[in-house]
Amino acid sequence: MTIRTADLAAEHAAYRREIDAAVARVLDRGIFILGEEVSNFEKQFASYLGGAKHVIAVANGTEALALSLLAAGVKAGDEVIAPALTAVPTIAAIEMAGATPVLADVDDHFCLDADSLEHAISVRTKAVIPVHLYGQPCRMDEIKEIASRHGLAIVEDACQAHGAEYKGRKAGTLGDAGCFSFYPTKNLGAYGDGGAVCTNSDELAEKLLLLRNYGQRKRYEHVAKGWNSRLDELQAAILSAKLKHLEEWNETRRLLAGIYFEKLRGVQLPKIYGQVKHVFHQFVVRSPSRDGLRAFLEENGVLTDVHYPKAVHEQPAYAKLAPRGRSLANSERAAAEIVSLPVHHLLGKEDAEKVCGLVVEFK
Ligand SMILES: *Cc1c(COP(=O)(O)O)cnc(C)c1O
Repeated sequence: MTIRTADLAAEHAAYRREIDAAVARVLDRGIFILGEEVSNFEKQFASYLGGAKHVIAVANGTEALALSLLAAGVKAGDEVIAPALTAVPTIAAIEMAGATPVLADVDDHFCLDADSLEHAISVRTKAVIPVHLYGQPCRMDEIKEIASRHGLAIVEDACQAHGAEYKGRKAGTLGDAGCFSFYPTKNLGAYGDGGAVCTNSDELAEKLLLLRNYGQRKRYEHVAKGWNSRLDELQAAILSAKLKHLEEWNETRRLLAGIYFEKLRGVQLPKIYGQVKHVFHQFVVRSPSRDGLRAFLEENGVLTDVHYPKAVHEQPAYAKLAPRGRSLANSERAAAEIVSLPVHHLLGKEDAEKVCGLVVEFK
């Protein structure tokens, strides 16, 4: 049997009764946009995040980021700093908000490096996006200290960090706004696209509610220029059903990661900061012979992935973002060496052990 990086059909088979009941409830009610499923999910997710004041559900993680920047007052001509090792949508969101992305480097934990952030700041910088990459929260105290010294808004990219914690507080509640994606393979995933913003600011929440729904305060009363970026009722109902299992699923990921930490040899293991709870959206190791290792694993029935094979400025569409006079060497080197081993809540201990055995066997 092949060991995969995700298995959404198997997941549906395992939770069919709960999901089908949620879907039937929505179909029978006949309300598909901005009804009680969305507002119930927003309340449940806010409570899951430790009593966050507001959760505003939106269409996807990319728009959660773009709309948060807009709500925070980011405008054309402003600069927003983000790491060079991230999913491209982090950067796309900055341009969707009309601003200019400025790339900073990551540290050896794959998170935004505080010194590199500080060096990337200019008079035009308005916001920073720390990305909690692979499910590990960034060093938020250091980032917050720099942001407050320079008057920058913090929009967290928590799209891979549902349930992760920094000093006992949930990722996504640590900045001015925290953005989540519910892309199907995320730790909490919909059956399609979905996203949400978490914020404790009444002002940001009010703007986000307008921005996601054509700028309407009431029907046909347009007090702002907005987008259409809504989570739909079906996805909200499915997410509410799945949210009940998120803690247990994250614990399974952490257990599998524990086996990897114990039994892997011959690759560089991920580095974990103190005082964080990592939720292992990905388990990412480094190897100088990454491509050979991947081929060997695949020949033996283990599929892997690379998040991401290029730093953002190494992508043709974003080549112009390569900074002059600042190094992004950690991001570039990581992209050439990293490989994501299978980790998801339907894998068993024996699957992780098989992967370890093959990695050890690979020469
Ligand atoms: C998934 C992801 C996004 C984008 O989310 P979508 O829902 O696909 O728009 C942004 N940033 C990171 C780090 C992600 O992993």
